[in-house]
Amino acid sequence: MPPTVTPHYTLPKFNIRVEDLSHPGAVLFFDNVQPALALKDAVLASFTHLYTPKTVPTHVKLITLVLRSMDGVAYTFGSHTDKEIHFSLDYIKASEHRARDEILGVLVHEVVHCFQYNGKDQCPGGLIEGIADFVRLHAGYAPPHWQAAGGDRWDAGYDRTAYFLDWIEKHNGEGTVQKINQLMKDRKYTEYVFIEATGHGVDKLWKMYCALLDKKSPKLTPN
Ligand SMILES: [Zn+2]
Repeated sequence: MPPTVTPHYTLPKFNIRVEDLSHPGAVLFFDNVQPALALKDAVLASFTHLYTPKTVPTHVKLITLVLRSMDGVAYTFGSHTDKEIHFSLDYIKASEHRARDEILGVLVHEVVHCFQYNGKDQCPGGLIEGIADFVRLHAGYAPPHWQAAGGDRWDAGYDRTAYFLDWIEKHNGEGTVQKINQLMKDRKYTEYVFIEATGHGVDKLWKMYCALLDKKSPKLTPN
């Protein structure tokens, strides 16, 4: 067998700012991860699951991670070239029992936001969040409470949409979610991206998926 070759990717520069080094969340962070390595792995997870060496985006030059006390978990913003990820030290403290996996999982999710396409801002927020958590799932950092579930909306986001995308990927073949992301690069999002990527409309896919969940576990039947 030929050796597996890891493609050579150009990575952005990484920076970190800690707004309270004595916060227990900061202590946990540095006890559990090496920031440069964690960010590099998160970028590589995004590249591996959403792009190919040919399509990999090169516009992001700098990712700054800001650790600070705040409500919520994390968010990402920035310009085309410079991104900033704010990550809550209070949340890290609250995730103490599984700090390493949770930190790495949140970093993967936020780093996906630095690179993913959004159909000229027309992509539903639930699909944006679902794709970020699809990569988190595939990187091996799904938290224990995540589960596949149906419901009214395919674009409820996060794990709900991530497991749906995971099923689409299995049903239609590896690279389907990558294709959905790619189809949102240069044009406005419409649900037609699903037809183009899978041959089916998203509502039909959601119905098929929910029917399968019902069969597997009646407990997961949407109410
Ligand atoms: Zn997000």
